[in-house]
Amino acid sequence: MREASAIRAEAVRRLAERFGASAVLDAPTQIAPYRGDLMYRQEEAELCVFRPSSAEMLSEGLALLADLPILLVPRGGGSGLAGGATPGAGAASLVVSTERMRTLRRIDRDACLMVAEAGVVLAEAQAAAREAGLHLGLTHGGAGSATLGGSVATNAGGANVLRHGMARDQILGIEAVLADGTLIAGAAELWKDNTGYSLPQLLAGSEGTLAFVTAVTLKLRAPPLDRQAALFGLAGPAQALALLRLARDLLGDAVTAAELMSRSATDFAAGMGVAKVPLESAPGWLLLLEAERTSRFFDLAAGFDALLEAAFEEGLAGDGVFAQSEAQRLGLWSLREGVAEAMDLWRGPILRTDCAVPLGQVPRFVAGVDAHVAALGGGLRAAFFGHIGDGNIHVNVMPPAPGDALPGKAALSEAIESIALSLGGTVSAEHGIGLHKRAALRRMKPAAELALMGRIKSAFDPANRLNPGNIFGSCGDDAKGAPEPHKDAFRCSRP
Ligand SMILES: Cc1cc2nc3c(=O)[nH]c(=O)nc-3n(C[C@H](O)[C@H](O)[C@H](O)COP(=O)(O)OP(=O)(O)OC[C@H]3O[C@@H](n4cnc5c(N)ncnc54)[C@H](O)[C@@H]3O)c2cc1C
Repeated sequence: MREASAIRAEAVRRLAERFGASAVLDAPTQIAPYRGDLMYRQEEAELCVFRPSSAEMLSEGLALLADLPILLVPRGGGSGLAGGATPGAGAASLVVSTERMRTLRRIDRDACLMVAEAGVVLAEAQAAAREAGLHLGLTHGGAGSATLGGSVATNAGGANVLRHGMARDQILGIEAVLADGTLIAGAAELWKDNTGYSLPQLLAGSEGTLAFVTAVTLKLRAPPLDRQAALFGLAGPAQALALLRLARDLLGDAVTAAELMSRSATDFAAGMGVAKVPLESAPGWLLLLEAERTSRFFDLAAGFDALLEAAFEEGLAGDGVFAQSEAQRLGLWSLREGVAEAMDLWRGPILRTDCAVPLGQVPRFVAGVDAHVAALGGGLRAAFFGHIGDGNIHVNVMPPAPGDALPGKAALSEAIESIALSLGGTVSAEHGIGLHKRAALRRMKPAAELALMGRIKSAFDPANRLNPGNIFGSCGDDAKGAPEPHKDAFRCSRP
């Protein structure tokens, strides 16, 4: 068996010889940023970095290495929250970075689509769509550093999922390269294509385990002409769901976001000095509702007035504030963002979760988790916040002070996930599986479904070279291992 370091050196030699030294990074200082994502770093990995500038170059480079036992790790912006772009320990790894594949090939205004290479940063793609008079619905909190390839590979989706869906819902075509270098099609531009299995749909959410995404065709929409937002104080998640239903009745698909926050979450953020609730009362829960107008013939402001009136008349909200200007709208969002930011700033132990349940089960999920955490005692704080329109409520649990311990963190995480699963929910609504949620995935999925997923993986990547620890890791060949989350796992700058 050849040493991992010898295999890595051979890969560097072959790639540099064919494509020049700048296509491969090998020096310790150069490769340091590629040792992980925001969740995990792997200091033990024997890695080098390949930076192709086109799908063809990637295809040729992988074919050159086909006989080498080297793991292949697709990497975009490294902003993932599941350890997906983290190379394996011990084994030789080739991190394939899309940083030089940043061409936005075209925007078609009539067909309402964009074709772009995988390394284009999501925020850049959004800006380009805006300049072309259209709107890219794909967005999430990491848009300033995440790439299109990474966002599609993790099937990302943020606060506007209830209007635009997740990445999977926004893809028309994908160009991809298999682990052996086979280039699969161009990124199709068809809005209708009913020709058997859908490669784009399989690759969305595959977390770099099936193929390298090299380019995507994304749907574009009519741009929002303006947005309106209101913050409601209410008694609990059941009232929030009723208010969301009312908003949809009155405003239809114009509703873009419904963000729920518990008082415990906003109090925590206020305590960290990053948020202030702009209401006179102190409600137990807050709902931030936002809607947008894409037609100049639709009176969104009148619709929002009607919503506020009906919400109070029907007793769904006890208090509320309607943003009168763009600055006030952003101010309401800064409360929601402040909650997430406070968790990032907290220097003590913290448990983060990413469950979702069917919408109607949100009240039961929240009550179940609340009761479980309260029963543990020790002054633990459970902060609930997230996208109630998708049933995706993050529960973060912290001890009273940063210096206090958070005992039984793994068991608590499992207990919260079990509550979600008992209600028909999921252990990972948006961040994916990566290295982080592999055990939880095995608890969630029936063996037959896991086995089928494994067979799909084998069909794409029979030699199991692409991100072999991701998703499937501890189901069999745990080639990547799972290091401990690094200390600053969630510290990052927001776009
Ligand atoms: C502040 C912040 C807020 C966030 N909020 C949300 C949110 O609200 N909703 C949400 O869904 N997500 C959210 N995320 C996570 C987000 O999904 C990821 O950050 C993003 O999708 C990863 O993109 P990336 O280019 O950085 O990929 P990376 O981190 O580089 O990689 C992520 C995974 O995709 C694979 N991959 C990357 N590029 C390719 C490619 N070209 N082909 C094949 N596989 C590839 C990698 O192997 C890895 O498994 C947030 C992240 C941050 C930092």
